[in-house]
Amino acid sequence: MTQTTQNTFRDPTTAYPQPEQPQQDQAAPGLAREMGPKPDHGEDTYVGYGRLTDRVAVVTGADSGIGRAAAIAYAREGADVVLSYLPSEEEDAQEVVRLVEAAGRRAVTVPGDLSQEAANTELVERAVAELGRIDVLTVVAGKQTAVDDIADLTTEQFDETFRTNVHALFWVTKAAVPHMEPGSSIITTSSVQAYQPSPNLLDYAPTKAAINAYTKALAGQLAPKGIRVNAVAPGPFWTPLQVSGGQPPEARPEFGAQTPLARAGQPAELAAAYVHLACPESSYTTGSTYSSTGGMPTP
Ligand code: NAD
Ligand code: MG
Repeated sequence: MTQTTQNTFRDPTTAYPQPEQPQQDQAAPGLAREMGPKPDHGEDTYVGYGRLTDRVAVVTGADSGIGRAAAIAYAREGADVVLSYLPSEEEDAQEVVRLVEAAGRRAVTVPGDLSQEAANTELVERAVAELGRIDVLTVVAGKQTAVDDIADLTTEQFDETFRTNVHALFWVTKAAVPHMEPGSSIITTSSVQAYQPSPNLLDYAPTKAAINAYTKALAGQLAPKGIRVNAVAPGPFWTPLQVSGGQPPEARPEFGAQTPLARAGQPAELAAAYVHLACPESSYTTGSTYSSTGGMPTP
């Protein structure tokens, strides 16, 4: 049966393309529009139910992949959305702008390199200047570059991966918290790599374990302020990250085949999780990690 909304009853093993994927390569960070098959970010299927009416959401990595799926869903649930992404991703970002505006909401674009502290403070300042406050801060941006041998893993890459995945999370949350009221929500993006680290992700996997710990520590710190902090931990998802160096070329056709559901996840399949953690229906949930791994076991 054709999927018409995120709630259409369907078999998860056949709901989306199964490996092998066609071989493909892009320079990092890659563009969703140049992938084949195209990832599903919920463009044609996500239906909102007013769960974030008139909220203000900031989404990093919002141009493509999981961040785009969250941004589309937030807009269709009624939120205005501030979109953070790298300047080289403007084409992907403009597609998201059109989708947010088609949902009748405001889209504010703030391109910038979040591995630099100043870009994080500028993102928060722009969000507050344009939309007045931040109700939802969803941190999805991340860097992943597979390297087989520690001898070939440069200090520069190690540093850049940590700055993008961990330092930026510290910088953006530190800047945003003063602008968040009780009831607000922060959502981070971990990975199954936090628990089952791949040998070729020696820099990336530990950043995801750090994000889990940071999320729990921040949740404890912000609980008295009424701000909840939760993580989403995806398994293998079909996004530009993976075909622009996140996986080595030889692993891309079979990407996702190792999961019990035997395929890669699609960003659209995570949208509702980012919505759930953003809105009051999850008001007793903080310091948690929500896993969506196609069945790969997580703690
Ligand atoms: P993606 O390539 O679509 O998204 C990653 C985004 O990160 C990019 O679009 C880019 O805008 C942003 N980014 C990277 N470096 C940046 C920088 N220096 N400054 C600002 N923005 C920067 O891929 P995705 O898979 O949707 O990745 C989103 C998140 O999901 C990442 O944190 C990734 O680690 C995590 N994740 C992905 C998978 C997967 O299999 N795809 C699995 C587990 C976790
Ligand atoms: Mg992108």
